[in-house]
Amino acid sequence: MPEARRDVDRLAAGVLAGDRLELARAITLVESELPEHRELAERLVEAALPGARPSLRVGVSGPPGVGKSTLIDALGRHVVDGGRSLAVLAVDPSSHVTGGSVLGDKTRMSRLAASSRSFIRPSPSRGVLGGIARRTREVIALCEAAGFDAVFVETVGVGQSEHEAAGLVDSFIVLVAPGSGDELQGMKRGILEVADVVAVNKADGIDRERAEQAAVGLSNALGLFSRTAGAGATPVLILSALEERGVSELWSAVETFVAGAKSRGAYAERRSRDRLAWFRGELERALRERFLAAPGVGEKLGELEGLVAAGGVAPSRAVRELLG
Ligand code: GDP
Repeated sequence: MPEARRDVDRLAAGVLAGDRLELARAITLVESELPEHRELAERLVEAALPGARPSLRVGVSGPPGVGKSTLIDALGRHVVDGGRSLAVLAVDPSSHVTGGSVLGDKTRMSRLAASSRSFIRPSPSRGVLGGIARRTREVIALCEAAGFDAVFVETVGVGQSEHEAAGLVDSFIVLVAPGSGDELQGMKRGILEVADVVAVNKADGIDRERAEQAAVGLSNALGLFSRTAGAGATPVLILSALEERGVSELWSAVETFVAGAKSRGAYAERRSRDRLAWFRGELERALRERFLAAPGVGEKLGELEGLVAAGGVAPSRAVRELLG
């Protein structure tokens, strides 16, 4: 183990020096599911954290096929062409069901990947959301330690996880397809509530008009939500990621939102809240692990689960017995 620890210290130094290969290795360690890697991963993140300087963190969310990776390819090039370095991470809470990875198809962001200022990292394809959020926070910290100016986090919009995904970033873009009013009605209300910027994609060809109508419908729907005091109405933009129209306007909307949040104090507040959520998540996990590791608990838990599943014992009663 001591040797592994020295390796981790070297890895942290490599990350802090901005070495891409070392960063990729560091992310692999953080994403590892092996229990013996956890302690090393924690050491790595702790070593890297003091060297991290805040990047501009942007979330890009939306259902599969809406054009997230096409947009990230275009928006990312806009950012790197402006002279900034950019790391792109993907989180796919649904992929543990399908077994796939959001960025499994590496050609999806090929033009952005060709830039020396970009770093693109597919997500692990398994795990529960809480775990993914924890790892994503750690991976963001590593990217910030490596000196990236901006970090994009791609998430697949799946409703209930959106609050957590939005909390990880400074500005959360929700991408929508030009759909009929009915489809918009059916859109998860949760995802619109946490959006900082809404963008209707695929506003090109025969869909252009539908996209415009969708944007009007969304603006009206968003007007009904009460937003944070002082934040103003959520901007709704129309764009074509494919034809790269509206992309620089989207970036301006993101920058305007973040500048506004900074001046209102909401930016610092959001980051504090996320650090607290991170801490609480770690604490809950540690408590659970410690509890389950206590002698006899695993066995007792198995027994009680059997009884609860069979309807023989009320869940609350089983909990009391277990903690008793
Ligand atoms: P993701 O699953 O959200 O990452 O979506 P992709 O970026 O992979 O795009 C899904 C499909 O939509 C691909 O065939 C893209 O070429 C297409 N697409 C993406 N953006 C646009 C756009 O602005 N206009 C049109 N017409 N098609 C687009």
